[in-house]
Amino acid sequence: MSSILAVGTVAYDSVETPFGQADEVLGGSVTYFSVAASFFTGVSLVGCVGQDFRKKDQETLEARNIDLKGLQHIQGETFRWKGKYGDDLNDALTLETHLNVLEGFRPNVPSSYRSSEYVFLGNISPVLQRKVLAQIHQPRLIVCDTMNYWISGDFESLLETLSHVDILLVNDAEARQLTQEYNLVKAARKVHAWGPHTLVIKRGEHGVLMLQNQSGRPEESGQVAGRVMKNKPVAGMSVFSAPAYPLENILDPTGAGDSFAGGFVGHLAGINRLDFSAICQAIIFGSVMASFNVESFSLDRLKELDYSEIELRYREFREMMSFDKI
Ligand code: AMP
Repeated sequence: MSSILAVGTVAYDSVETPFGQADEVLGGSVTYFSVAASFFTGVSLVGCVGQDFRKKDQETLEARNIDLKGLQHIQGETFRWKGKYGDDLNDALTLETHLNVLEGFRPNVPSSYRSSEYVFLGNISPVLQRKVLAQIHQPRLIVCDTMNYWISGDFESLLETLSHVDILLVNDAEARQLTQEYNLVKAARKVHAWGPHTLVIKRGEHGVLMLQNQSGRPEESGQVAGRVMKNKPVAGMSVFSAPAYPLENILDPTGAGDSFAGGFVGHLAGINRLDFSAICQAIIFGSVMASFNVESFSLDRLKELDYSEIELRYREFREMMSFDKI
């Protein structure tokens, strides 16, 4: 079992969905990621909060045994995000983003984190993502997430970060915006050419599509080699597609992407494998964690979760996805 170093935002979110609203609740990319990943392996968090960060929120992270040596407490206010969802829960409308303490944040990776083999660069400025990378020794896997805010605001810098990344996790709108390609297979070819050998596209209620460059990273091609399919749907790529867990009641999709990432990287680090079948399983564990997260606002559902519930939903996925042995 390997532990994960994760960087991203710790936030206070104000969210409105067709089913209710929550004000100033705990959120942020590294928060959702770390809590979700903590069900699979150890997590060392790098991020920052302001003086207004509540004790009970710190305790939520501590209760999951997340290592908080890399969480800096800075003079000022915690990062804030305000968003709204309409009937299409896949599409968040950002109403306000206040970087606050993030503007003066200089990540200082504690020495005990520097040899982490698994690294998650959560949604945060690409410059900060690289500042973290510069402080760590050769990791086995670097996974990155980003969003429209950084794609439009810091594109060149994001490309520089991507040149160091193995797996990029984004939603379909972000994949299209990033590559300027509507067709997701064409989008994957562009992303592969920039560096990541694997693109995982989160499609909300439509599930996940993964496109892996079959040649992988030259120095690690054995490790990431995909399956060789008899009838390849896409030349030169290994492909995996999974549905979303069919939920009847969704309260708040905020954090679905980050909790997906937590289950995904958490599983890979937990079993310490990067072969194709491990990556496919990781996609299902990611989908399981995202499905729990959207059942409540903030981290309310993830906080209460038991590992037996994760296993049960994983088995339900397996049944739902097999059709030739019925
Ligand atoms: P998602 O998993 O994509 O729904 O991400 C939700 C989280 O992203 C929220 O809890 C926000 O606090 C956080 N967030 C929103 N905007 C940004 C941003 N520009 N940079 C980093 N994190 C953000």
